[in-house]
Amino acid sequence: MSGVRTRFAPSPTGFLHIGGARTALYNWAYARRHGGALVLRLEDTDRERSTREAEQAVLEGLAWLGLDWDEGPLRQTQRAERHREVVEELLARDRAYRCTCTREELEARKEATIAAGGKWTYDGRCREAAHGRECGPHTVRLRVPAAGLLGWDDAVFGASGQDASEIGDAIIRRSDGQPLYHLAVVVDDLDMGITDVIRGTDHHNNTPLQIALYRALDAEPPRFAHVPLIVGAGGKKLSKRLDDVSVQQFRAQGYLPDAMRNWLVRIGWSHGDQEVFSRDEIAALFDLGSVNRSSSQADPEKLAWLNQHYIREMPRDALVAALLPFLEREVGHAVEATPDLAALVDLLRERSKTLVEMAERAVWLVVGNLAYDEKAARKHLTEAAGPILKDLHDGLAELDSWDGAGMERVFDSVRAAHGDVGMGKLAQPVRVAVTGSSASPGIYETLEVLGKPRSLSRLAEALHFIKHGG
Ligand code: GLU
Repeated sequence: MSGVRTRFAPSPTGFLHIGGARTALYNWAYARRHGGALVLRLEDTDRERSTREAEQAVLEGLAWLGLDWDEGPLRQTQRAERHREVVEELLARDRAYRCTCTREELEARKEATIAAGGKWTYDGRCREAAHGRECGPHTVRLRVPAAGLLGWDDAVFGASGQDASEIGDAIIRRSDGQPLYHLAVVVDDLDMGITDVIRGTDHHNNTPLQIALYRALDAEPPRFAHVPLIVGAGGKKLSKRLDDVSVQQFRAQGYLPDAMRNWLVRIGWSHGDQEVFSRDEIAALFDLGSVNRSSSQADPEKLAWLNQHYIREMPRDALVAALLPFLEREVGHAVEATPDLAALVDLLRERSKTLVEMAERAVWLVVGNLAYDEKAARKHLTEAAGPILKDLHDGLAELDSWDGAGMERVFDSVRAAHGDVGMGKLAQPVRVAVTGSSASPGIYETLEVLGKPRSLSRLAEALHFIKHGG
C-alpha cells in the first residue's frame, strides 16, 4: 500500500449532489490508482442543517455507485473535543489570540475603511492585547503573517495562492466556543494523515487560510487538487429546480450505476478519446493531471448513450434483477424473475435508454389483466380486424411448436386468406391484443415470450373487446 490517503468530506445537509458524487469518485479513483486509502468523513458541524437522512443519502449514493471507502464514516462532530484542544494549543503557543471586538465594532471599522477607499481585513486591534481567558465574550483569531505568499502547487490549477496580507487574522473559534470550519478541516485532515485533498473549486479560496493554519501547526500541508464545478447546458449553474442534480434522481429514473459512474468521471476528465470506462479502468487510469481547468458541462444525452451501452452489455440475470424494482413500481405488485421475463429483457435491452423505459415496455408480460392503450385500441382493434384476428387465433391454436417459423406460416396463410393484407394490418392488431400497445419487439418474438396459452387467451379477449367493447 502506498502512502496516498484521500478523503471525501461531504456536509450531510441534503441529497448527494452529482458534483459531490464526482468529487467522491475522483478521490476514490486516485486512492485506488495509487494503492492508497479513501477516508469518508461526514462534516456535520452545521447542526441545524445536517440530518441523518442526508447522511444515509450520501452512504447509499456512494454504495450504489460502487465507491467503497477504507475508513469511516467518521463524523466531524465527534471530534469537537480535539478541535477545541487544538485551538487551546494555538493560544498557548501564541499562534492565535483572543479578540474581544464586537460585531458592531467590526462592522463600523469595516465601513469606515471601505468608505476611505481601503480594503478590509481584520485590523489587528486585539493582536497585541494579550487578552486572557477571563476577558469576557471573545472569538479566537489565527495570527496570520502580515505578508508573504500562502501558496501551493495545485494538481489541477498549478501555482496558486494569495498574499497573507489579503487574508488577515481569521476567526478560528466563535464567541460561543465553536471552532470554525477551516480549523476542523485542517485538524481532521492532519490527524487522518490525508496526503491529497481533492475537492471542488468552490474551496479554492479557502486554501490560503488553511495553509496558514498548517503552518501555525508546524505541519506540512497536503497536496491540493481543485476540480472545476459541473455546470448545465450552456454553461449555466445547475439549478435544483430545473435540473436533475442528485444521484438519487438519476437512480430513480433508471440509470445504471456503471453508466452514472462512467458519465461522472468523464465530466471534467479525459483519457485520450476513450468514452467507456469500467470501474476497474477508472481505478487504473484516473489521474489528476488530465482534469480540465474549466467548468464542465453535464450532458444528459451522453448519459443516455452510456446507459444504453451498459444496458446492452449487462449480464442478463443482473439486468433482470436491476429491472425488477422498476417493474414492480410500474405494476404495483411483486414480480418474479421468470425465464420469460429474462427473454423479454433480452429483446428490450437493444431499445431501452433507461430501466424506467424498459419497465414500461415489459408491463404487458407481467400483468394478469391487460389494459389497452386507448388510442391503439381505437385504431387497431376495429370491427374490420375481427375476422382476421379470429382466423389467426384459430390458426395459432393448431400450432404444435410455439416458435417463429410456425407462427410465420400461420400469419402468411391468414393474410393470404384475407386478400393478401399487408403484415402491418395483421401484426398491429395482434400487438395491441397481446401487449396493449402498438409498440413492441418483433411480433413473433413477442408471442413466443408470452407463451401459447396466454397469447391465445389475449387474442380471445381482444375478439371479445371488438365485439362487445371494453
Ligand atoms: N464539507 C465540505 C463540503 O461539503 C468539503 C470540505 C473539503 O473538502 O475540504 O463542501
